[in-house]
Amino acid sequence: MSETYLNCIGGEWVESQSGETFANVNPADTGEVVGRFQASTAADARAAIEAAAEAAPAWRRTPAPKRGEILAAAARIIERDLDDIAEGLTREEGKTLPEAKGETARAVQIFDYFAQEGRRLSGETTPSEFERTLLYTVKEPLGVVGIITPWNFPVAIPAWKIAPALVAGNAVVFKPASNAPLTALRVVKALEEAGLPAGVLNFVTGSGASVGAELAANPEVRGISFTGSDTVGGRLYGEVTGRGAKCQCEMGGKNPIVVMEDADLDQAVSLTINGAMWSTGQKCTATSRAIVHREVLDEFTGKLVAGVEEIKVGNGLEEGVQVGPSIDEDQLNTVLEYIEIGKQEGAKLLAGGRRLTEPPLDKGYFVAPTVFGDVTNDMRIAREEIFGPVVGIIAAADFEEALAIANDTRFGLSASICTRDVHRAMEFADRIEAGMVHINSPTVGAEVQVPFGGMKDSSTGTREQGRVAVDFYTETKTVYFEY
Ligand code: NAD
Repeated sequence: MSETYLNCIGGEWVESQSGETFANVNPADTGEVVGRFQASTAADARAAIEAAAEAAPAWRRTPAPKRGEILAAAARIIERDLDDIAEGLTREEGKTLPEAKGETARAVQIFDYFAQEGRRLSGETTPSEFERTLLYTVKEPLGVVGIITPWNFPVAIPAWKIAPALVAGNAVVFKPASNAPLTALRVVKALEEAGLPAGVLNFVTGSGASVGAELAANPEVRGISFTGSDTVGGRLYGEVTGRGAKCQCEMGGKNPIVVMEDADLDQAVSLTINGAMWSTGQKCTATSRAIVHREVLDEFTGKLVAGVEEIKVGNGLEEGVQVGPSIDEDQLNTVLEYIEIGKQEGAKLLAGGRRLTEPPLDKGYFVAPTVFGDVTNDMRIAREEIFGPVVGIIAAADFEEALAIANDTRFGLSASICTRDVHRAMEFADRIEAGMVHINSPTVGAEVQVPFGGMKDSSTGTREQGRVAVDFYTETKTVYFEY
């Protein structure tokens, strides 16, 4: 029997008013139910919003350094429980245990970083036009904010939204993705144990259509930070900003790696495999287009295919496994459909391209890491986000053409170039339309102390992480003080 987990509303762990739960299934072994979670309703979400609104004034008055101390204490608890949290993460999400441990360690860093932000939440003092006048600004919290997260980074993404929201003095209603709610719950438990007052962080599991929609529509919620698909994010943004609240959306990508003729090809292959395949390609920053100079196309392709064919796919809890399953049956089918689309479009299947069903893989949603050659940038596999272990190789005649192909997409999250020519590297950094640029490093990866986010359809603009993260969760007040 799997355990049944509850919502946290106003500091109480409670069942949903629906009386119903849903199963959280291990995608590597679908016979295992990792846990059952509350199938919450809009009424549950409303109760959580009310609890947050009640807790918000006292939390706002709590000095920011004190708020930061609670985040730091939560960091120590997550650190203490790291192995256990990571194992649960692998069971519910499928990524390998080393990846899950790395992500959990990242959450520790995030709480530590934003804990210190409690001592740095400064405004500015500015000379006034008038004598004997003190002119200054302060950052004030929005009040109640909603946090809606995807399943692919179930500890890091909640951490990088919740930490700045709390340190800035907001009360939070947190709705995690239904495919990975256990890891999200561990974040809430850590903050509870760290001494966060009741009602400051509320946790409500359930569907986007019930819980998410209530957060979006409820006038008490002054800001929503969302990460997920661009279909949901686009709609949410219109709705939330339409009623005058703030909305931050981090969405999809179609991230290129450009491989120039002077690149270290072994390094380029390793960066491509890292970006495209690790975490089963289920990263918003995953590499999905390898744009390769014709002079090195054959050599790069040969090395990439050889490297991809060696990848060990399986249950992420097993040692040596490098790529786990797709998150669920829908995502598995999406990946398999795109593989069919790629073949029909005339791309050449060079590696993988099928579901893996040899026992024990038949118990999970496994796809062989897949490489397509002869891809052109107008193909759907080069334009639409697949979110699986699939990469397409596109040939380019020179730097200008490679750059044009890289920019020919509606997304703009992350981009990478492999070259030893420093001028070309800088030219790429200047002209690529992406929120994050990597030179001789993979399209994936995010350090907490710098902004994270995309351009074009990947993001609504306001950045997460780094010092700017608190900007979304605060409003600036200007004070004129004549003495
Ligand atoms: P999703 O859009 O299906 O769901 C994201 C969250 O939104 C979930 O919690 C879901 O329940 C909720 N939701 C669904 N419908 C809603 C509605 N009508 N109102 C409010 N909330 C609703 O995305 P997913 O499948 O969980 O995650 C994968 C996607 O996330 C990919 O597109 C990926 O690129 C993106 N992603 C982006 C980033 C980034 O920072 N740019 C990071 C990770 C993942």
